[in-house]
Amino acid sequence: MNDIAFERSLSASYIALEAEYGAKNYKPLDVVLTRGEGVYVWDVEGRRYLDCLSAYSAVNQGHCHPRILAAMVEQAGRLTLTSRAFRNDQLAAFYEELCALTRSHKVLPMNSGAEAVETALKVARKWGYQVKGVPHGQAEIIVCDGNFHGRTIAIVGFSTDPASRDGFGPFAPGFKVVPFGDAAALEAAITPNTVAFLVEPIQGEAGVIIPPAGYLKRARELCTQHDVILILDEIQTGLGRTGRLLAEEHEGIEADLTLIGKALSGGFYPVSAVLSNSQVMSVLRPGEHGSTFGGNPLACAVARAALKALTEEGMIENAACVGARLQASLAAVAAPAVKEVRGRGLMIALELHPNAGGARRICEALQGRGLLAKETHEHTIRIAPPLILTEAQADWIAEQFEAVLA
Ligand SMILES: *Cc1c(COP(=O)(O)O)cnc(C)c1O
Repeated sequence: MNDIAFERSLSASYIALEAEYGAKNYKPLDVVLTRGEGVYVWDVEGRRYLDCLSAYSAVNQGHCHPRILAAMVEQAGRLTLTSRAFRNDQLAAFYEELCALTRSHKVLPMNSGAEAVETALKVARKWGYQVKGVPHGQAEIIVCDGNFHGRTIAIVGFSTDPASRDGFGPFAPGFKVVPFGDAAALEAAITPNTVAFLVEPIQGEAGVIIPPAGYLKRARELCTQHDVILILDEIQTGLGRTGRLLAEEHEGIEADLTLIGKALSGGFYPVSAVLSNSQVMSVLRPGEHGSTFGGNPLACAVARAALKALTEEGMIENAACVGARLQASLAAVAAPAVKEVRGRGLMIALELHPNAGGARRICEALQGRGLLAKETHEHTIRIAPPLILTEAQADWIAEQFEAVLA
């Protein structure tokens, strides 16, 4: 399409309006989507794309999954919000099904991922004072270099990404940063006042950074040994993305608090949750924490359907098997620009050499071929399609990378 045609295009008019009225806190690709089904989305000009981002893994079940859609429509016509001042008939079933699936004892439902993280930090601190006996106001929480846990002030206060953090202080004290993947550094950072270690099993926003084998297992041992709560942020890695229900399963461990969100609703609605063993969560009393929308019947009905779709339709097994195939075929792309392909299940990153001209350019070229992917940092492209991806679609993705990178 030449420039004049683009000027007049429908997409361009939406993009211009956004630029005029919207805060510029994102730099999206210039594609304006209007419809989605399964792994595909369509723009306002009717062009079809294979979605290799899945809304940062919130759409693991595929766009507009019919089963989740039906549950949402049915529940939306019956009851949407009661607040937790009253009970609703969806919450109990959501709790029961989620606990059975994840072998958890207690659930605390919230909306966004960041709220689940904030909830876990609050619970861990309270546990530290009430159960561990940390002196009041002295609780320390250890986090990792390169972390991404959301965008609230407390959370960005312990981010090590200048773009996330700079200019937003002053920040909450009580956080310590250690290198990701370094169990010795974690051990050295633990003090008698340490209440929790918060970590992503695989760092997503940092560019799909996989820690050395045995790291999480060692972190689990250290936390147990020093009476520290292990909080795994599985908001991105969880719910099938890595080929297991939770990424913790790859190392055979269990966290004390597990955070899930994103795909918990299949992308229909913001639903997040803190999963816990009963001891940790039992420090909360009525009135000490809450959310107007957390645990609402619409969210619960949607999440129940989203979990059923994920588990009953074989999506997790598919992520493991098609993910391995896609990783192998991406690794076989013969292009000098490619530095590394890494991943687990369908959580994959292709890293370019620093002199290859940047990932953004590649993403724009892929867009021209009907594939939507987003760069993360300058030289990394994340590839995270819905978990219903077929082998043929995986092969097609690798072909597009081959064509663009060759
Ligand atoms: C996306 C994400 C969050 C934040 O979730 P929001 O719903 O955007 O608040 C937290 N942790 C991880 C690992 C994430 O990927």
